[in-house]
Amino acid sequence: MVVMAHPDDAEFTVAGTVAAWIRGGCRVTYVVCTDGNAGTHDLDVTAEELATIRRAEQRAACATLGVSEVLFLGYDDGQLEPSLALRRDLVRAIRKHKPEAVITWDPRRLFGDGNYINHPDHRAAAQATLDAVAPACSMPLLWPEVGAPHAVRQVYVYGNDGANLWVDVTETIDLKIAALRQHASQLGDWDPTERIRSWGAEVGKQEGLAYAESYLVITLR
Ligand SMILES: [Zn+2]
Repeated sequence: MVVMAHPDDAEFTVAGTVAAWIRGGCRVTYVVCTDGNAGTHDLDVTAEELATIRRAEQRAACATLGVSEVLFLGYDDGQLEPSLALRRDLVRAIRKHKPEAVITWDPRRLFGDGNYINHPDHRAAAQATLDAVAPACSMPLLWPEVGAPHAVRQVYVYGNDGANLWVDVTETIDLKIAALRQHASQLGDWDPTERIRSWGAEVGKQEGLAYAESYLVITLR
């Protein structure tokens, strides 16, 4: 299960891993916390119209990758908080789909590359996800109305400087780029190929891989 704040987050970051896992026979579910309905500088589109566009783009990206299901939680873009309501919605999703592993961001990630401040929605989604995984989703007396307890075995934390696992995405980076291209409302005329390849190469060179995505993997129990 991949939990992210916005449509396109997974394609910018972890989709090479997602594609590799699917090729290896895994079933992957996405949970997208907001509809990305503030993600534009175009004043001719309403938040409702943008939400419709972005959900469709996310579904197309998931189809490109072979993701089995995408669940939209419907929170408003730009206003996500690591609230109990969000934590409970994520517990519901985890208990329903029973993932062995959950991928999300590092909620502590505030800056990147000296030219970026991480979106508060990314941090909120990540914090709520970690809090849902451990211990909430495995506690039988906590929110029994949202499903039977389930214990996630591993959490893959993306965007952490202390990575302990590199996933080789050499065979799937083109699929990642193709999936990212489905988010046309966000890309405009920009071709993401060079950016995604240079990020992947930078991470991969630490482990002698052409392209990689890296994670801090937490194994529970
Ligand atoms: Zn985002």
